[in-house]
Amino acid sequence: MAIWNLGSINADYFYRVPHLPGPGETIAATDLTRGLGGKGANMSVAAARAAAHVAHIGAVGSDGAWAVERLTEYGVDTRRIQTVDTATGHAIITLDSRGENAIVLFPGANMNISQNAVGLALTEAEQGDILLMQNETSQQAFAAETGSKMGLRIAYAAAPFSTESVGAVLPFLDILILNKIEMAQLHLATGLMPSADMGVDTVIVTLGADGCALYDRSAGWVPQHFPAVPVTAVDTTGAGDTFTGYVLAALDRGMTMPDAIRLAAKAAALMVTRYGTADVIPDLKEVLDLG
Ligand code: ATP
Repeated sequence: MAIWNLGSINADYFYRVPHLPGPGETIAATDLTRGLGGKGANMSVAAARAAAHVAHIGAVGSDGAWAVERLTEYGVDTRRIQTVDTATGHAIITLDSRGENAIVLFPGANMNISQNAVGLALTEAEQGDILLMQNETSQQAFAAETGSKMGLRIAYAAAPFSTESVGAVLPFLDILILNKIEMAQLHLATGLMPSADMGVDTVIVTLGADGCALYDRSAGWVPQHFPAVPVTAVDTTGAGDTFTGYVLAALDRGMTMPDAIRLAAKAAALMVTRYGTADVIPDLKEVLDLG
């Protein structure tokens, strides 16, 4: 089986600055580092590190060959990533000495993925494969509808949250994963709670250091709570992406949902003990070594 991930690929540029620039101000950065980012790329790397076959569906600009190379090195199948005539998605992250940041995000190529490219990629998917999406690319509704017709299991991480985006894919979803803030936003906008009314089989609400809640049609929507693994967190960036990638990889290997969640909680706990995103997502051996 395989995971097809229609997802964003970003370059994260971290600029160290003495203070965050004000309007009209020019300041010199003292350091620059570039990392692979974007929720889509993070989830592909997490699922690949969890030993799944992951085919990433996405786009970069002509400046993005290094990002595709990095994904390949991490074990992701990158053959369906298009090169388009727009800059690769990127985040310009200025960080001051107090740890404050200001971010400019340019979605770029992520919003120029063509319907044709998504359709072509999905012709290679097989019934029972998983199609994963987040809200950082174009073509989400088309992919969800096509994948659903083909008998794929459709999973959606509703981040960054948008009522319109989640509304467009909801009728096709099997698995919805969102954090408690996104769940509250969805409820506020639509009145929906994890229940049969949502039309999905499974909803996972992640709760940060408090673990997560699983709502499943087969369990009559009675919530099941899974605790987080206690660790000293230093950087929670990418915890949710790691969790989602691991859950889906485990399901793809035939694990039950509760076992998949327990494995993913260990991976996410390890992740929050590290600084960084895609480059530091733990591999399966490290996660299993946690016991
Ligand atoms: P992010 O946007 O920071 O990537 P998120 O908001 O999507 O994350 P969270 O609910 O913060 O997702 O975290 C996802 C999972 O990661 C949790 O369900 C939990 O298992 C694990 N996790 C998050 N924070 C911690 C923590 N401080 N200690 C242990 N595990 C954690």
